[in-house]
Amino acid sequence: MATPPKKATLESKIPIGSGYDLYSFSLPKDSPLNFCGGQYIILNSGLDAGEEGKKLKRAYTIFSKDSDQNRFELLIRKVHQGRVSNHLSECQNGTDFEFSGPWGKFAGNETWPNSGKTLLFATDNGISSAISLISSGKFKERVDFTKLVWLLSEHEDPSLVDWIREERIGNATGVEFVPVRSTGDSWSVDSALSFARWLLNSGDSYSNFFLSGNGRILDEIASFLETKGIGRDTIGSESYFRQDVPKEDRTRTEV
Ligand SMILES: Cc1cc2nc3c(=O)[nH]c(=O)nc-3n(C[C@H](O)[C@H](O)[C@H](O)COP(=O)(O)OP(=O)(O)OC[C@H]3O[C@@H](n4cnc5c(N)ncnc54)[C@H](O)[C@@H]3O)c2cc1C
Repeated sequence: MATPPKKATLESKIPIGSGYDLYSFSLPKDSPLNFCGGQYIILNSGLDAGEEGKKLKRAYTIFSKDSDQNRFELLIRKVHQGRVSNHLSECQNGTDFEFSGPWGKFAGNETWPNSGKTLLFATDNGISSAISLISSGKFKERVDFTKLVWLLSEHEDPSLVDWIREERIGNATGVEFVPVRSTGDSWSVDSALSFARWLLNSGDSYSNFFLSGNGRILDEIASFLETKGIGRDTIGSESYFRQDVPKEDRTRTEV
């Protein structure tokens, strides 16, 4: 028998930078979410999907700390012509939604991360998974051994980066935060891979990995990690979308 959907109410929506919104949802009394950092929900937007009775549903990482299970936040990028992300940004406070979850076996795995350094590698809106992980109970003792690299596109503006640094990384003292902007609009698969190769060949070694964002880039990095003998069981990956961008080499600039 299918599990009945859960319910959440939109309490507030705050723009962060020009392209993102931070949503806060409340849950019915005595209905804790029981999630751990890095997991996601599947939200029913309420929009018709075209087929009889079907609604558009999208996955979103739970952005808030797992120390509070009675409410949750989502950080959502408005995707150009994206149906759900733009619809949500117009919803009024007080709107009720149905959802399922939490989902995400890898993030829920209690044996990950194991000892040693952790590299969180995010592109674009994949930052949500990285922040959710470092804000989780299980990362409490690990933040001093964690590097968070974030490949930015033109949609992640400086005020979003500052907000992430000050409001979300600030508490997780010890995390080495490296937002990196390509000189073009977006990172191509090639330029992202060559940056990742440089990073992994020229410094610290890592025992745990979590990759999130553009699946085309993440697949290449995961394959590269495997060629270096890194076990698949230490590499978590959450592909938010898959997009090829022109294959051209771009110089990087740290921000
Ligand atoms: C496990 C998981 C967790 C996710 N968590 C988040 C999250 O925390 N925050 C968040 O903003 N999104 C997240 N996403 C993406 C989200 O589920 C939707 O895909 C996104 O909001 C776009 O939906 P839409 O209906 O607006 O766009 P659609 O109408 O479905 O159109 C999306 C189109 O835009 C393209 N696209 C280009 N750039 C992006 C991009 N950066 N993200 C998504 N699609 C893009 C897609 O390839 C696709 O062709 C997650 C996805 C997964 C699978």
